[in-house]
Amino acid sequence: MGNNRFVEAMNAIAGAINENKDYLTDLDREIGDADHGVNMARGCNAFMEKLNQTPPESLQAGLKTVAMTLISTVGGASGPLYGTAFLRSSTAAGTQTEVSAQLAEQMLRAAIDGIESRGGAAPGDKTMIDALEPAYSAFSESLQKGNGLLKCLEAACEAAEKGVEFTKTIAARKGRASYLGDRSIGHQDPGATSVTIILKALTEYCRSVEKE
Ligand code: ADP
Ligand code: MG
Repeated sequence: MGNNRFVEAMNAIAGAINENKDYLTDLDREIGDADHGVNMARGCNAFMEKLNQTPPESLQAGLKTVAMTLISTVGGASGPLYGTAFLRSSTAAGTQTEVSAQLAEQMLRAAIDGIESRGGAAPGDKTMIDALEPAYSAFSESLQKGNGLLKCLEAACEAAEKGVEFTKTIAARKGRASYLGDRSIGHQDPGATSVTIILKALTEYCRSVEKE
């Protein structure tokens, strides 16, 4: 993946978030403060402006720009958490220029570890972790079977979608939704949903590149 590919991949994420902005905000209206889609779209539009203005010199630098922009523009709980995720994945990328399935697995692990250490959430707390941990496990399992990046991402998306469904069945124990206690049961978590939208956008982008 050259730098162009990186910017294209981030553009795919930004496009998907913008398309789902109202959907994410509506989900957050049910168990939060109705800003998740708005927050995420603001952050995505800000990092795309920066990436287009100054094309990043490396994968690591690009991911860092995305991270810092998310931290400074998204706000709420999700801004620092997504920011930390991209910052950790930037470090994991190191000097690599191609995102192999192996590197993607390492970047995903680093991102999740960052979110968990920053936010203190574990699986079952009804947060983005409930999409991310199953996604990582499925990615890893697929990689172990010898599959390439696209297949691994497809497996990750499927698991993330199931994770989102699972969030409907549990009460929130972290973030704003936790104030509702059991009244949050029956509603799907906005953050787990945005994670899944992002993974799907990356998967679709990866599929379009493989077809070239
Ligand atoms: P806020 O709750 O501050 O308004 P957002 O609406 O942008 O922020 O994001 C809400 C999402 O953030 C939740 O749906 C949840 O997935 C995620 N979240 C909140 N707190 C945590 C946490 N401690 N760890 C992981 N994810 C969290
Ligand atoms: Mg909110």
